[in-house]
Amino acid sequence: MLLKCYKNFINGAYLANSSGETFEVINPATGKVIYQVEVADEKIKQQAITSAQQGFAKWSAMSATQRSRLLLKAVALLRERNDELAKIEVLDTGKPWQEASVVDVESGADSIEFFAGLAPGIEGNQQPIDGDFYYTRRDPLGICAGIGAWNYPLQIACWKAAPALACGNSMIFKPSEETPLGALKLAEIFTEAGIPDGVFNVVQGAGEVGAWLSHHEDIAKISFTGEVNTGKKAMTAAASTLKDVTMELGGKSPLIIFDDADIDNAVSAAMLGNFYTQGEICTNGTRVFVQKSAYPKFIEKLVQRTSQNIIVGDPMAPETNFGALISRKHFNTVLDYIKVGVKEGATLLHGGKSIQPENASEGYFIAPTIFTDCTDEMTICREEIFGPVMSILTFDNEDEVINRANSTKYGLAAGVFT
Ligand code: NDP
Repeated sequence: MLLKCYKNFINGAYLANSSGETFEVINPATGKVIYQVEVADEKIKQQAITSAQQGFAKWSAMSATQRSRLLLKAVALLRERNDELAKIEVLDTGKPWQEASVVDVESGADSIEFFAGLAPGIEGNQQPIDGDFYYTRRDPLGICAGIGAWNYPLQIACWKAAPALACGNSMIFKPSEETPLGALKLAEIFTEAGIPDGVFNVVQGAGEVGAWLSHHEDIAKISFTGEVNTGKKAMTAAASTLKDVTMELGGKSPLIIFDDADIDNAVSAAMLGNFYTQGEICTNGTRVFVQKSAYPKFIEKLVQRTSQNIIVGDPMAPETNFGALISRKHFNTVLDYIKVGVKEGATLLHGGKSIQPENASEGYFIAPTIFTDCTDEMTICREEIFGPVMSILTFDNEDEVINRANSTKYGLAAGVFT
C-alpha cells in the first residue's frame, strides 16, 4: 500500500520541498509505518520565514478583538473535529483513546479559548512623571517559534500557538519528528477559521530543524517543550541572537503522602501520576514519599488496584487505559532504567517487563512498574525516566521529607496528600 506523504505547511497551504527528503512515522502500538513526512529543506525554511513575516504584518495590524474572533472559530472547529484529531494522536503517540478523546484536543481548544478571551483586555499603563506622564503599550514580538515534544503533540501546538497568536505574533512550529501530524491539522484549522496565511506555519524534521529555528536571527522568541539537555541547547542557541525563551522541560517530581491522608485518594494520585499516558508526562510524581506508618496500607492498595484496574492493549480499544511507549528506542531506555533500579538494590514489586497484549502484540508496551525500598541516591530516583516507573520511598517527618523532595535538579511539580 502506498503511504500518504505529508508536506510542510507554509503560508496557508501545503508546500512541497525540493530535496525530496522524507521521514517515516511509526504507530507505537503496532511498530508499523503509518505515513511519511517531507523534511523542511532550505527552500521550505526560507519560505517559512518569508511567510511568517508576511503573516505577522497582516495579523499584528488587526485589532485584538478581530484576532480573538478568528481564534474562537478555530476553537469551535477543534471541538467539532475532536474524534478525528484524537484518533491521530492515538495512532501517533500510542496513548489510549480513553484519554485522547477527552483530554488532548479539548485541553488544546481550552487554551486557545482562554488566550483569545484575554487578548482584547491586554493593556499598558500610564504613570505620572514630573507633572507629565508616560505610557506603556504591549506590542507583539514578531515571529515566534514553537518546538514541541511527542507526548501531547496537538495540545502542545495549541498551547504554544494560543498566547503567541492571541497577542498578534506569527508562529513557525516544529513538532517532534515522532508525532508530526497534529500540528499540521491545527494549521489547516487555523486557515479554515480565517486566520491569515502565514500566521501559523509548520516545518517538519528532527533536531536540526529545531536548532535552525533557535539560531535564526529573524525569530524573536522560542517556546520549547522537551528534555532538559535539549532545552539547554535551544536556550544557548537563542542567546546568540538574544531571543526570548520559554522552556517547558523535564521533571522528577515528588508526591508526598502523610499518614493522615485519605489513602484511597492518595493511591489514585500515585497511579495517575505514574501511569497516565503510560507514564510519559513531564509533571509525573515519580518519587512517591510515603510516611512509614501509612506504608503497609498504601502498598497493599496500590498493588491491588494496579493489578486489577490497569488494562494494557490496543490504544484504540475503548477499554484500554494504558498504551504503548512512543518508540522502540524509548522502550529500550525505560527497560534499561528498570534494570538499573534492580541492580542498585530497589525491590521490584510490580511489572518491570515488556508485555505483548493479544490485540497489539508488536507494540512497545511496558507493564506498570512499582519499585519499593528506594533511596534518594538511586538513579531511578534522580533521573527522569518518562515511562511507567514509580519509585516509592518512605519518611518519618515533615522537615525530612520536604528536604528530600526538594533535593533534585528539576523543578516542575509536586503533590502533597494530608
Ligand atoms: P526532546 O528534548 O528530545 O525533543 C523536543 C523537541 O526538540 C523535538 O521537537 C526535537 O526534535 C527538538 N530538538 C532536538 N534537538 C534540538 C536542538 N538542538 N535544538 C532545538 N530543538 C531540538 O524531548 P522529547 O520529544 O523526547 O520529549 C520528552 C521530554 O519533554 C521529557 O523530558 C518531558 O519531561 C518533556 N516535556 C515537558 C513538558 C512540560 O510542559 N514541562 C511537557 C511535555 C514534555 P525531534 O524530536 O524531532 O528530534
